[in-house]
Amino acid sequence: MMLRSCLALGTCIALVHSSPAWSQAGPYDKALLTAVRSVARAVPGDLPTAVRYVSIQDDSAPGSNAVEGAPHANIFDVDPVFQVRYPHGWIMVDAGYDQDAAASIFGHYHPDAYERVLRALDGARLIVVTHEHGDHVGSLLQPTVARRVAYKTILTKQQVEFLQHDDHTSGVFGPDAARSFLVADYQRLLPVAPGVVLIRAPGHTPGSQIVYVQLASGREIMLIGDIVWRMIGLELRHQKPDSVSRMLREDRTSIGQEMAWLADIVAPGGVVVVASHDGSAIHALVRAGTLREGLDLTSP
Ligand SMILES: [Zn+2]
Repeated sequence: MMLRSCLALGTCIALVHSSPAWSQAGPYDKALLTAVRSVARAVPGDLPTAVRYVSIQDDSAPGSNAVEGAPHANIFDVDPVFQVRYPHGWIMVDAGYDQDAAASIFGHYHPDAYERVLRALDGARLIVVTHEHGDHVGSLLQPTVARRVAYKTILTKQQVEFLQHDDHTSGVFGPDAARSFLVADYQRLLPVAPGVVLIRAPGHTPGSQIVYVQLASGREIMLIGDIVWRMIGLELRHQKPDSVSRMLREDRTSIGQEMAWLADIVAPGGVVVVASHDGSAIHALVRAGTLREGLDLTSP
C-alpha cells in the first residue's frame, strides 16, 4: 500500500465549479459538502445501487507505519478495487496491479481477484482513480489493458503530469499514452455520472481526489483513497508519520485540511468515509451492509 510506486496515461473533459461561498470560507467547509450533494444529481439517470469491492492483495504492516503515534502491532491491509454498481452497468474506482508489480510487496496476492478486476475494467462504462500511485493505477499502465480501456478512463491533469514525470512511470507513460485517456482539468468538483462526484483533494499526491457516491437508497459514501491509511488516523487527527510523508512527498497542510473536513463535517453529516487500505474498517462496513464484497459483472 504505502510506498508502492506509481505507473499511467488524453482527450479533455473540463468543468470548473466554483462558488463565492467557498472562496470566502476556505476550500473544505460545509458549503463544499452542500455543493457536492447538489451536483451529485447533475448527470440525469438512476442512482447507483451499491458500492462493491475486491481486494487483490491482503497484507499486514505495523500500525505505527501508517498513523503517527499508533501502536507498532501489525494491522490488516487490503488493496481494493471498487465498483459503483448501477442496475445496468458500472463504474470502476481504481484498477489494481498485476502479479509482477505485486512481487515487490509483502502479502498475499489474489490472481483470481485480479482477473475479475480486468473483466470489470473491460465491462465498465467509466473508470476513475483516487490517485496516481501504482497500487491504484498499475494495471492501466500496461499497454494491453490501456488499449482496451483508456478511452473510457478519466485521469486528471495532475495525475497525468505526475505519471509523466515520476521516475517509476515516465518510461511507460509518455505523451502518446496520455493522449489515449480522457484527461480532466477541474478545480473543485466534477460530476461524472448519476450520483458520482469527483472532489479534488491534493496532498497525498498532486492528483489525489475523493470519489463521492450517492446511492439510490440515500446512503452516501466517500472513497478517499490514501488521504489516511487507517480510519483511526482520521479519528485521532493523526496523519502518517512525518518520515513516511516526506518519503512520499506529501503536502501535510492540505492533508490536514482534508482530514478536518472529513472528520468534522463529512462523517458527522452521515457520509460513510472509506480509506482504501484499512482492511478492518472495510470488513466492518461489509458486515454492516454498507459495502459489498466481490464484483458484480452481470448486466453490463
Ligand atoms: Zn494505496
